[in-house]
Amino acid sequence: MLGTARRFMSTRVLKIAQGIEKNRVNSLGYETRKNLLNEINAANADPSVKAIVIAGSDHSSAFSAGADITEFNASGEFQRPSLHDLIETLEAVEKPTVAAIKGVALGGGLELALACKYRVADPRARVGLPEVHLGIIPGAGGTQRLPRVSSVKFALDTITSGRMIKAKEALDNNVLDGVAPDGQSVEDFASSFALSAADNSPQDLADRNLSTRTVSGDASGNDAMCDAAKEKLPQPHMGGEAVHGAVDAIKASYEPGKSFEECIETEMSIFMDLLANSAQGRARRHAFFAERVATGLARGAPKPSSPLPNKVGVIGAGTMGAGIATCFLRAGYDVTLVDVNAEGLVRGEKIVKANLSQDVKRGRATQERADKNLSMMTPSTTLTSLSGVDLVVEAVFENMDLKKKIFKELDGIVGEHTILCTNTSTLDIDEIGGVVKDSSRTMGMHFFSPANVMKLVENVQSKHTSDQTISDVTAHTKKIGKIGVLVGNCDGFVGNRMVAPYTGEAAFCVEEGAGVGDVDAAIVDLGCAIGPFTMGDIAGNDIGYLIRQEKGWADGGAPAGLRYTDIPDNIVKDLGRIGQKAGKGWYDYDPEIGKGRVPMHSEEVEKWLEAQRGEGVLFEDKDLVERSLFPLVNEGFKILEEGICARPEHIDIIYIYGYGWPVWRGGPMYWADKEVGLEHVLKTTERYYEKYGGSDWWQPSQLLVDLVKEGKSVYKWADDKSKNQSKL
Ligand code: NAD
Repeated sequence: MLGTARRFMSTRVLKIAQGIEKNRVNSLGYETRKNLLNEINAANADPSVKAIVIAGSDHSSAFSAGADITEFNASGEFQRPSLHDLIETLEAVEKPTVAAIKGVALGGGLELALACKYRVADPRARVGLPEVHLGIIPGAGGTQRLPRVSSVKFALDTITSGRMIKAKEALDNNVLDGVAPDGQSVEDFASSFALSAADNSPQDLADRNLSTRTVSGDASGNDAMCDAAKEKLPQPHMGGEAVHGAVDAIKASYEPGKSFEECIETEMSIFMDLLANSAQGRARRHAFFAERVATGLARGAPKPSSPLPNKVGVIGAGTMGAGIATCFLRAGYDVTLVDVNAEGLVRGEKIVKANLSQDVKRGRATQERADKNLSMMTPSTTLTSLSGVDLVVEAVFENMDLKKKIFKELDGIVGEHTILCTNTSTLDIDEIGGVVKDSSRTMGMHFFSPANVMKLVENVQSKHTSDQTISDVTAHTKKIGKIGVLVGNCDGFVGNRMVAPYTGEAAFCVEEGAGVGDVDAAIVDLGCAIGPFTMGDIAGNDIGYLIRQEKGWADGGAPAGLRYTDIPDNIVKDLGRIGQKAGKGWYDYDPEIGKGRVPMHSEEVEKWLEAQRGEGVLFEDKDLVERSLFPLVNEGFKILEEGICARPEHIDIIYIYGYGWPVWRGGPMYWADKEVGLEHVLKTTERYYEKYGGSDWWQPSQLLVDLVKEGKSVYKWADDKSKNQSKL
């Protein structure tokens, strides 16, 4: 007994970032590195310490989320001690060292753990090397130690995907040496582990250092795996610079005759090259920070209600309602799903059930969890069943009178605290919210289709919405795992408002002779998931036609002087080509190929176009990109100028999460500002405005004009403006 106590005393537990409360995720910034290095040296020098455990701090649920990325700059010079210094010192310790991983060990956090002689984890812990998402590679030995401890195959998968690995999978692949039994703290488990390792010989301990190991498998087999990975990954010019860099670094790990130090040098030079020279990396890091900016609450905003209430009513069990109900159920909410149409309700329930089963099939939820979530759904055909809910999301047909009628009825049913949201995509939310007694609790929650898949929600503030409502809706959006971006009320809000000139101008290109497929290809070659015509086929060309009819523009009603093409109307009217749902739109679709979702060139459309405008004309890709995307960007500037959203980051994040914009191009505003240059955007816009004066989307935004005059970035403009910030 005495012996056990003495032995226990001789393990020293060093806690990463202990006492640095502001470091909530134990990131490995300068101060943390310096303290930890001193503690490692002290524990190593103390003869009473037989073994060392490295653990997360008491104030954090993480082991370590990795490097402090605010320290990243093009020079790549980190204040010493660097993470490399820390890791070298840790690996040189001759006593048993054990990483006790709870929460997450990511990036530099996992690299630190890999420098310990052993690693153990809480069963719920996750590890990973997500650096490629920031356009770089692990730069502190991760690409060299991971293949040595597991295999080239595992390292390739882990590092190029940047995914999080559960403890069990990490154990199966030798990244971990043990998982704490349920009920025992990982620190206690690690301490016992460390002490039993203290009996190992110095040689056995030295052999635990991954820098002394070689990678398993023969070089040619490993080469074949790396080459195959490169084939499958996005090519370097299409966002793949970092993942290709990662494969090159992994290749170095098994190169015959190469010392560990030389391997580390290779890793470092790839890391440095990406950090200093990769525009994709800069764009990815911009997107990382932009997400925080765009989804956070504004300075001075009230705190969300706590605890956040969890009874939700979803009205309308159609395409959107069923998806929205799924999102809330997944997050553990109590959901009442209402549809006046009993058949529609049953159909909606079935969709929710299928969505939750799909989660189980894809390994995203256990059967038990899915069953529990489903049991929290109450289907109903009457609004009165919503009397006890805290939040309502209305998703009935897109009809102003119907929505106003429902909001009015709800006023007499729900409690005074209940927040009422509409999922409208085109209607004025000032008007919908205006019909209830307390309009301050109304706003828009604009989900994107399919709502159970798409991450984006535009949270639309009306002129009535209170700050508390914004804070609560923001918190609900976060709780259901969505990317909620606060925007103001206007036609199309942010995303769809910017899409209108984009698809409109693409149609003019086709009218002038561009091929439908050529326009889409130019946009896809830029890295976007789809082009404007594929987007039209997915959304339904009839929807656009209907909107133009409602505006009075379709069928010859366009105002005099406005440039208008009736090709998008006629493809619906003359050919019934309404899109994927009909198996034909701008493209042909074959139900046997890719579930009827693969766009294929349509002879019929080509001939039909030729009959109206003559033969096709060859456009330069660059012109097609500028013709389609500059009006979109110009509209973004107008949105900022009008205060519809607070910062360009909001637009970037809306486009990355809602419209398939490539994250490695940072969002459309970032692309215009940092890649293309605002001066060129403005000059081209002015040129086209002169040429096509009739389309108002070519009228340059005043903000764009002013920024070019001042030589100022739109991000700097937003910084300056935020000094006297409004609630948006
Ligand atoms: P949908 O036609 O698929 O579903 C609407 C449902 O509302 C139907 O099941 C209908 O029975 C039900 N309904 C009608 N009147 C009702 C009432 N009085 N009480 C209760 N239920 C009623 O429509 P959808 O595509 O899911 O669109 C719903 C809303 O979401 C619309 O405002 C639409 O603009 C918006 N929206 C749609 C999309 C999309 O891509 N479909 C995307 C974003 C937003």
